[in-house]
Amino acid sequence: MKVLNYSWSDFIEGLKVPSVVFEFLNRAKVWATKMGQFLYLAGGPVRDVLLGRQTQDIDLVLEGSWESLLSTLSKEIEFKIISKSQFLTYKLSLNSLYVLDLVTARKEFYPSPASLPVVARGSFIEDIHRRDFTINALIYGLTPPYEDKILDLVEGLSDLKKGLIRPLHQNSFIDDPTRAFRGVRYKVRFNFSYTEEFNKALELAAKISSFKKLSPSRLAQELKLFFTKEAMEALPTLLRDLQNLRLLQRVGLKERRIKSSDFNLLRKAKEELDSKNFEKFVRLFLVELEETTLKRLAFSDRERALILKWAQFLREVESSLQDLSILERVELLEKIPPFLLFRLGLEEKWEDTIELFWDHWRKVKPAVTGEELKALGIKEGKVIGSILKRLRQEKLEGRLTTIEEERAFVRNLIFPKS
Ligand code: ATP
Repeated sequence: MKVLNYSWSDFIEGLKVPSVVFEFLNRAKVWATKMGQFLYLAGGPVRDVLLGRQTQDIDLVLEGSWESLLSTLSKEIEFKIISKSQFLTYKLSLNSLYVLDLVTARKEFYPSPASLPVVARGSFIEDIHRRDFTINALIYGLTPPYEDKILDLVEGLSDLKKGLIRPLHQNSFIDDPTRAFRGVRYKVRFNFSYTEEFNKALELAAKISSFKKLSPSRLAQELKLFFTKEAMEALPTLLRDLQNLRLLQRVGLKERRIKSSDFNLLRKAKEELDSKNFEKFVRLFLVELEETTLKRLAFSDRERALILKWAQFLREVESSLQDLSILERVELLEKIPPFLLFRLGLEEKWEDTIELFWDHWRKVKPAVTGEELKALGIKEGKVIGSILKRLRQEKLEGRLTTIEEERAFVRNLIFPKS
């Protein structure tokens, strides 16, 4: 085991966390020491401090019982337990501002390839050996016997220096194929290289079809991280790596050919769609719209039917779309859920229409209101509806611009000049 001295003040400076987190870590450090339990930071924070990068998540691990430590800490510090999982982990919110992951040191056992592991309390050594890559298996001790020390059991420090992505053992991706996807993200994020062991682990997992056994929901979750955890600018490289390693194929997805303009639409989708729609859109970004692939990506029966119905429908009306009025086209496109609309916008033949619809057409609405029409003496809802629709059509086709023009148009409709 390699041991590297690293002072708490230097570590915390490198960690760049808000004061609420600093305070929590300090108090946890004091109490875990008093209780004689080994407390440490693992994975991302240690790696990122050594790389001089801002860390995204803090994993605080205890070789002991969080329950008793938390009950003591709750007398001194305000926090809220957001969740507690079967895997001996807690999510904690500090001041509703920052979320901390509290993990119990554990060992894992995979009953079959790509299954979820069976988890049990373990030693810090077992906890290190259950991890994905050597660079993620470094720990920093907050309490004795390894206070203020970085521990390296797996040559993680050397791999971090050399910039290498190395799984801890050759069956790593058989146990958990999501690790191969994680490896791609770290390789690209840090501009590292894959090791021979990485490629070997990939081949071994493919050989026994472990990738095919990964559940749809875990696969979808893993792919989502490419779009939500990594920088947008890194995506072309990330996707090229996925392709070079044939990972999408290995998990049983039908890949789509991605063109450079697709990334512009992706950026726009990130800005414009809510997180639920964006998450669905990115699942579709990589793939062809076809039954097996959609099923593999955890789309429900209802969602699959909807996606395939619209894709088919648009294919059928493709040639006659130009014959429809703009209003008819708008009313058609308005029925399509935004995540799917963006996905259909990736198809070359739809690109322009959908862009025009999203940026412009869908926002064109009459300035004259239903109330104003009522004030003019129109009582019936249906008539009001059809006048507003006419107004929208005129506006869409550029014949009306100002509200005065709309009013004049309405007056003319109601009281036509003979
Ligand atoms: P980042 O959040 O910056 O992507 P991280 O290392 O914090 O990196 P998390 O996904 O938060 O990544 O996971 C925390 C740690 O848990 C990892 O560093 C790794 O040691 C371990 N880990 C996460 N997922 C797996 C997995 N599928 N198999 C083995 N270990 C894992």
